[in-house]
Amino acid sequence: MSDLTRRSVSQFISWQRCPEQYRLEKIVKVQRGPDVWSHAGTAYHTATEHYDRDQFYDRPEPVEHYYDIFRDQMDQMLTEEEARTEIPISEFRTSKGADYEWWVDHGPGLIDEYIAWRHETDYGIAVDKDGQPAIEVHFEITLTRLDGEKFILNGYIDRVFTDVPDVHGDLVVDLKTGMSQSDQIQLGTYAAAWHQMTGRYCDTGAFYMARKNGLSTPRWLGALASMRALNGAYGELDRSVQAGIFPPRMGNECISCFVREHCQYADVSGISS
Ligand code: SF4
Repeated sequence: MSDLTRRSVSQFISWQRCPEQYRLEKIVKVQRGPDVWSHAGTAYHTATEHYDRDQFYDRPEPVEHYYDIFRDQMDQMLTEEEARTEIPISEFRTSKGADYEWWVDHGPGLIDEYIAWRHETDYGIAVDKDGQPAIEVHFEITLTRLDGEKFILNGYIDRVFTDVPDVHGDLVVDLKTGMSQSDQIQLGTYAAAWHQMTGRYCDTGAFYMARKNGLSTPRWLGALASMRALNGAYGELDRSVQAGIFPPRMGNECISCFVREHCQYADVSGISS
């Protein structure tokens, strides 16, 4: 395995939001209480991944099969987290009131809605050079900083669809189980990585918002979907981390910052929680 530094989209998003937040989360690794949403989201991704693979390989299963995958994985992960942290699941952090019971009740419905959306749109799944379906595609590409230093960017692309009306080329899609979309750089990264790996034309992306049951309007990503943009953006992250420079970005983000209680700048930011 290459000994080059490895970077990821989530690192970049955290660093872009606030470099000090990145330092506390990724380097200091401050302890945060366990949450329900990350495990429920992972289980949702697994269930919908199984659904799309089964459709692609023409091996249909009853919908209950995907409910079971969701519930089994969520329960297993939460139980392991409960044992590790010795905190009861009922006390895990939630997002907008969506606790464990909410996910048990609503998770299968979200999967139903995804399946209905797939039927309704009937978008094709793109394939790579080996004919493999673009479902949870692992990518690992080498990038170059402006000063010539090389590093690795890796991650997963949830889906790449093809034959999407009004989209020229392939469409990269990130599935979101939270309420907010991510930065466009995430989609630009996936589009550039997909093109780099396969040679397929791709400069458009969208978020599938599970809690809103729908696809965001596909966005043309322009220069964001280029290796030049990735070299520049992620190169700055790599340079900042290697130099140990993490300026705090004090502002409204501080109000809901999840590492606020560990941040020495939170109380001098002039922003109250
Ligand atoms: S509280 Fe504000 S300055 Fe501190 S890490 Fe969070 S966002 Fe950054």
